[in-house]
Amino acid sequence: MNETSGDVAVIGGGVVGICAALFAQRAGFSVTLVDPVEPGSLTSFGNAGIVCGGHYVPTAMPRAPMELLKLALNRTTYASYRAEAVPGFLSWLAAFWRASAPENLYQTARDTLPAMGETVGLHRKLLAEADAGHLLWETGWLAVFRNEADFNASAAERDFARSAGVDFDVLSAREACELEPSLNPVFKRAINWRANASVSDPFAVSQAYLKLFLEAGGELRKAKVVSVAPVDGRWRIETDTGPFRSTQVIMAAGVWSAKLLRSLGYDFPLKPKRGYHRHFAPQGNAGLSRTVVDDTVGYVLAPMARGIRMTSGIELAGIDAPVSERMVQRIEPYARGLFPLGESLDEEPWMGRRPALPDSLPVVGKAPRHEGLWFDFGHAHMGLTFAPLTGLLLSQMMSGAKTIIDPRVFAPARYV
Ligand SMILES: Cc1cc2nc3c(=O)[nH]c(=O)nc-3n(C[C@H](O)[C@H](O)[C@H](O)COP(=O)(O)OP(=O)(O)OC[C@H]3O[C@@H](n4cnc5c(N)ncnc54)[C@H](O)[C@@H]3O)c2cc1C
Repeated sequence: MNETSGDVAVIGGGVVGICAALFAQRAGFSVTLVDPVEPGSLTSFGNAGIVCGGHYVPTAMPRAPMELLKLALNRTTYASYRAEAVPGFLSWLAAFWRASAPENLYQTARDTLPAMGETVGLHRKLLAEADAGHLLWETGWLAVFRNEADFNASAAERDFARSAGVDFDVLSAREACELEPSLNPVFKRAINWRANASVSDPFAVSQAYLKLFLEAGGELRKAKVVSVAPVDGRWRIETDTGPFRSTQVIMAAGVWSAKLLRSLGYDFPLKPKRGYHRHFAPQGNAGLSRTVVDDTVGYVLAPMARGIRMTSGIELAGIDAPVSERMVQRIEPYARGLFPLGESLDEEPWMGRRPALPDSLPVVGKAPRHEGLWFDFGHAHMGLTFAPLTGLLLSQMMSGAKTIIDPRVFAPARYV
């Protein structure tokens, strides 16, 4: 049945919720987007701007004993944890460990190949519609490896990418510096993953998609949702500015989704993989024409509208734990060695919360135990990348249309 009418409330206005709202609207629903803050201003504001294309091998927990020891001692540059948060992460970490087994990672890589063929094109199309095509740079991204061992560790991914027909070039340090002349050759090898793109201002991207939604008659309600409950065949949405009703609900509140769903009996293992950024002015005429990922140290240098954005790896900490300088302090000396960073442009580091399920994939689809309730959260490291795709996919599922990819890859049944 093709049911493309009625009203839908989208809870959460990060890039994921905005895209869910936009595509639900385009499928014929009358849509209200609900968020207490400016849409796109939390996690979606400060990411590294990479729109992953071609293929995706999820971030994994290391398996080498020495690396695990360094992690346990809180000595790595790519991850950090707060001791008080550890008990709350134990079962999640056990599941993340299982998901990190190479056979599971590459199963995910195979399962997501159809999705990865759509990501960049969807952003390109939406940004063009919003007159914001200039935000998208289709220049690939450069992974640099400071030693041969780290480069060799990427062999499995290169083999996978090659077999999937993904475009990339393996470069020497000299060749990489020809592509990006401002880089210092403190690394041995590089890979230019050409199928990837990046955006120069993730917040502006969210705002561009929000503009498309509002201009087409979408409603934005500034309110914090306190609870959602089925009442008489509809949904009652209780907010801090009063209740309202809706025929259907899309839960897209990033890492906060799990708490809102608990009273409905869903217990998703959704945790904040927190991450930081800080902007720097480049020295002199230095610049980057693509995003650079320091694979050995575990940070990203992204050329952004505001300056060079240095983003960190993962901090395991409570959602509301205070911001810490530790991660950016650990990576900054390495970043300065790789690229001539000038003065810092931010007084303190920005922090965001990647909404992460153990298998690093979002849940997208119908709630198994409730009519009219839909999930679109848990995008972890790939929220910017996947937001238009999962929004479109969900709208197709909601309206009974043919779906752009097989939705089973993101099925809620993985966790329910
Ligand atoms: C350092 C860093 C680098 C990253 N780099 C990349 C990258 O290069 N490429 C990529 O694809 N991804 C990247 N990511 C991941 C990406 O940013 C996230 O996956 C994405 O922003 C998640 O979007 P979201 O809309 O689910 O969550 P959010 O942006 O956090 O939005 C959730 C929204 O829900 C709202 N909300 C919460 N509770 C309620 C409530 N009770 N009622 C109503 N609304 C509510 C919040 O106010 C918020 O606006 C990175 C993340 C970090 C931290």
